[in-house]
Amino acid sequence: MRVLVLNSGSSSVKFRLLDPEDPAYLVNGIIERIGESGSRIRVFFDDEEIEHVTDIPDHKAGVIAAFALLSESGHDPRHSNIVTVGHRVVMGGDLFTKPVVVTDKVLDAIRELSYLAPLHNPANADGIAAVRIALPDIPQVAVFDTAFFADLPEPSRTYAIDREVATRYGVRRYGFHGTSHDYVSHRVAEFLDRPYESLRQIVLHLGNGASASAIAEGRAVDTSMGMTPMQGLVMGTRSGDIDPGVMTYLSRAAEMDATDLDHLLNRKSGLRGLCGHNDFRELTDLVEAGDPDAVLAYEVYLHRLRMYIGGYLMLLGGADTITFTAGVGENAPKMRADALSGLEWFGIEIDPERNALRSKQPRIISTDSSRVTVLVVPTDEELLIARAALSVTQ
Ligand code: ADP
Repeated sequence: MRVLVLNSGSSSVKFRLLDPEDPAYLVNGIIERIGESGSRIRVFFDDEEIEHVTDIPDHKAGVIAAFALLSESGHDPRHSNIVTVGHRVVMGGDLFTKPVVVTDKVLDAIRELSYLAPLHNPANADGIAAVRIALPDIPQVAVFDTAFFADLPEPSRTYAIDREVATRYGVRRYGFHGTSHDYVSHRVAEFLDRPYESLRQIVLHLGNGASASAIAEGRAVDTSMGMTPMQGLVMGTRSGDIDPGVMTYLSRAAEMDATDLDHLLNRKSGLRGLCGHNDFRELTDLVEAGDPDAVLAYEVYLHRLRMYIGGYLMLLGGADTITFTAGVGENAPKMRADALSGLEWFGIEIDPERNALRSKQPRIISTDSSRVTVLVVPTDEELLIARAALSVTQ
C-alpha cells in the first residue's frame, strides 16, 4: 500500500512516494521556485535524479508537471497503487487535534486558520487543492504539525497576557514540528523497548528550524515553539526567544511595521543574523577557523539550548532520555557534546566514541553509567504522515 506525502511551502513542494511496509520503495521529489523565475522539478529514485525546468506559476501547475515527470520515471502516481495522500499542514489551531480526511469543509477550515499561520497554511491548502484535482478518487489526509501539542497542559500553553485579548485572537502556545517530536519520541521508546508512557523524554529537533519538547506519561508537557514557529531556540534564520519589548521599541525607533518585523525575526535573525550563515556546516567551519562572529553565534545557540534542557529537566523532575534529531542534531557531534558538557551532576554523561559515530540508525551516545540515556534518532516526518494517513483511511 503506497502513500504519497506532500509538504507544501509557499514557493516549494516536497513530495515522497513511499510504502510504510517496504523501505526499499522510495521516490523523492521537489518542486522549486513556484511563481518565480527558474522554477524546476527534481525527482530522485534508486540512484537516479531527473530534472525538468519549466514555468510553474502556481501549486496546481507544479503538481501537474511533477506527475508528468514521475510518469516519465515510471512512477506515475495515477498508476502506482497509491491508496492515500498525506499532507503536512502546519496549523490545526483548536479545530484539528488529529489527522483528518480532507473534505471541502476541512479544506475551508485549513484556509481559515491562515490568520494564525499566514506563511504556511495557504501553501498547505494550495497543495491539497492541487492534488485533489490530480487524484480525485484518492482520499487525502491532513496531518497537523500542531496536533502532538494540542493537549499541552494549561500552564504550558498559556501566555501571561490579558485573557480576553488572548481568547479573542487565539493567542496561546500551539507548538510546531509535532510530527517529528511524535515520531522520534515513539521511536525512542521502541528502540529502548520501554513503554512510551513510562519515559520522561526531552527531544531536541535541531534543523534549520529548531524546537525542543518535554514529554511525560505519554504526552507533551511543554515545547519551545509558541503561537508561531518563531519562539524558543536559536534557529538558522529565526531569532527564537526575544524580549517582546524589542518589537515595540523597533516599531517606534526604527519605524518598522509588522511586515518588517516579521522579516527581521524570521529571515534575518538566528545564526544568519549573528554571523551571516544559517547552514550549520558553514558555521562549524568558521568556528573552527576562529571567526569571532561565528564563535559568538555558536555560543548563543548553545546557551539557549542548554537553558531549555535545564528547564525541561526541572519540569520533568529529571529525564530518562534526551534525544537529538534533524539535520543539525543528527550530524553535529561537537554541538551535541557541547550542549551536554559538564552535566554529570544531572546524570548526563556522553561517550565521546559513541557520539562520534556516524550512522542513519537510532543510537545511544551516552555512557553505560549515564543515568540519562542520550540518543541520536533520525527523524522521519514523512513516514509518520504516511502512517497517519493510512490509519484514518484504511
Ligand atoms: P529543515 O527541515 O528545518 O530545513 P534539516 O533538518 O534538513 O532542516 O536541517 C538542516 C540543517 O542541518 C542545516 O543547518 C544544515 O547545515 C545542517 N546539517 C546537515 N548536515 C550536516 C552536517 N553533516 N553537519 C552539520 N550540520 C549539518
